[in-house]
Amino acid sequence: MKITIFGTGYVGLVTGACLADSGHDVLCMDVDQGKIERLKNGQIPIYEPGLEPVVRHNTDAGRLQFTTDVAEAVAHGLLQFIAVGTPPDEDGSADLQYVLAVARSIGQHMDDYKVVVDKSTVPVGTADKVRDAIRLQLDHRGSELEFDVVSNPEFLKEGAAVNDFMKPDRIIVGTSSDRAEEVLREVYYPFNRNHDRMIFMDIRSAELTKYAANAMLATKISFMNEVANLAERLGADIEAVRRGIGSDPRIGYHFIYPGCGYGGSCFPKDVQALARTAYDCGYESKLLNAVEAVNYDQKHVLFDKVSHYFQGDLANRTVAVWGLSFKPNTDDMREAPARTLMESLWQAGAKVQAFDPEAMEETQRIYGNRDDLQLCGTKEQALRGADILVICTEWKEFRSPDFEAIAKALSEPVIIDGRNMYDPQMLDRYDLVYYAIGRGRNQ
Ligand code: NAD
Repeated sequence: MKITIFGTGYVGLVTGACLADSGHDVLCMDVDQGKIERLKNGQIPIYEPGLEPVVRHNTDAGRLQFTTDVAEAVAHGLLQFIAVGTPPDEDGSADLQYVLAVARSIGQHMDDYKVVVDKSTVPVGTADKVRDAIRLQLDHRGSELEFDVVSNPEFLKEGAAVNDFMKPDRIIVGTSSDRAEEVLREVYYPFNRNHDRMIFMDIRSAELTKYAANAMLATKISFMNEVANLAERLGADIEAVRRGIGSDPRIGYHFIYPGCGYGGSCFPKDVQALARTAYDCGYESKLLNAVEAVNYDQKHVLFDKVSHYFQGDLANRTVAVWGLSFKPNTDDMREAPARTLMESLWQAGAKVQAFDPEAMEETQRIYGNRDDLQLCGTKEQALRGADILVICTEWKEFRSPDFEAIAKALSEPVIIDGRNMYDPQMLDRYDLVYYAIGRGRNQ
């Protein structure tokens, strides 16, 4: 099938590459000329494991192409996927300007029936706005062309996006049109062979499903962080508690890890946007507001621990930071807890020596050159001359470091671990002082 994807970010590029990989003829369009140039030259603008070979293979086969030409993009696909960003507006609501700009372009340029697919995470009611924006352009042109707007939210996880797209747990489609349903069934047929993963529903329910999923996951994290903070004050170990509650199948072990707060481009903005949607329809969401408030505080916990250790005097201290991306296996720094930590450290007069396996370029792009940030080529380099070590992201390569070397390199043998990666008793043996999240009395 002929498919157009608007937006070549984490979602658009993965969607385009994976659909092309199953044999579809895909054209990806982006307004970012630099991105499209890089993609045309075979460079992948983001770090996403396994994505590069899929893009390369399908570009070589001529099934995946890139353009900045919006008219060409609209002409190409029976399906027009909208996968552009929906960043938070000042009031927390989702900013729909990019989604609606694409909708207008489709209305301006289409000359046959289209199925317009909202893949971006958008508030309930957005499909109506997209439909109105397209219809308005068609009216200007005196055209009565037909089209359908479908909600098809994306559930991929950065860091495992290709696998998630290729083997989805579910494919949610919100539509009231039989014609569009048939087209979507055909597009996703290759991803649906093992068993039926498609769940059809009305458009508003599909739009809400995406927010409900992210809000539920964020709630689990904030809940665990709250219990971790309690455990710390009560002399209990949250890791024992986690295993204890996870053994109940009604709770389960998934996604109940305490830490230094959730970040990324989705949970923070989606929780806020859903709370705002609730507010706009006259409902105060006490739970969502609390989830957000707990997370805000949790992102400051690492700094509080550093500050507490140095009794508030951080001037001229140097902190080694391992892990900058908001989670492992991505270079995405949006809302990353490491940013909250580093910015607080700088404000208090401390210096940072940082290492991340993939997010160094992005960190450099965000913060530029500054005297109080040294980006180091290895995790060992980040330790040299530093006072203490703080871990913000649980990259695999941090799991079994050389603890003796860490103790030797630091002026104070202290690890503050925002991801509970180590066994406290093991670190005792290396004479390392270990502070983690929610682990016992000596925090
Ligand atoms: P992103 O910021 O990585 O990419 C968005 C892209 O859209 C950019 O390349 C931008 O240049 C492009 N764009 C903006 N306006 C455009 C236009 N008019 N025409 C064509 N391209 C345009 O965003 P993302 O992380 O891929 O997220 C996209 C959407 O998917 C968001 O709504 C997000 O909430 C949702 N989502 C993201 C994830 C994730 O893990 N990143 C997962 C599920 C859903």
